[in-house]
Amino acid sequence: MNETIFCPKCGSVMIPKKSDKKTYLVCPSCGYTDKKNKAVLEESKESKKEEISIIDEKETAQAALPKVEIECPRCHNKEAYFWTVQTRASDEAETRFYRCTKCNHTWREYS
Ligand SMILES: [Zn+2]
Ligand SMILES: [Zn+2]
Repeated sequence: MNETIFCPKCGSVMIPKKSDKKTYLVCPSCGYTDKKNKAVLEESKESKKEEISIIDEKETAQAALPKVEIECPRCHNKEAYFWTVQTRASDEAETRFYRCTKCNHTWREYS
């Protein structure tokens, strides 16, 4: 089981980086550093975190995301934004995320 944590800014996979005896999560794409997530790293050894919760943040620039015709599993709207995130192992298939344009429900799909 991978403990994959996504950057809340750009959606890239965050990588752990050690500094001053502490482990931070750093985004290799935009440089975002999450110092709060140290606790998450330790916790996640036992309880698997809900990865998708990060995506719920309203920060993602929806206007920049492409739209696709797909049915929302929650409200059955026929249009959603989508973006892809490469998982930690680069030979793994990328994960595609969708967010309903109507109710903002977000879900994922492995391509
Ligand atoms: Zn980032
Ligand atoms: Zn919806």
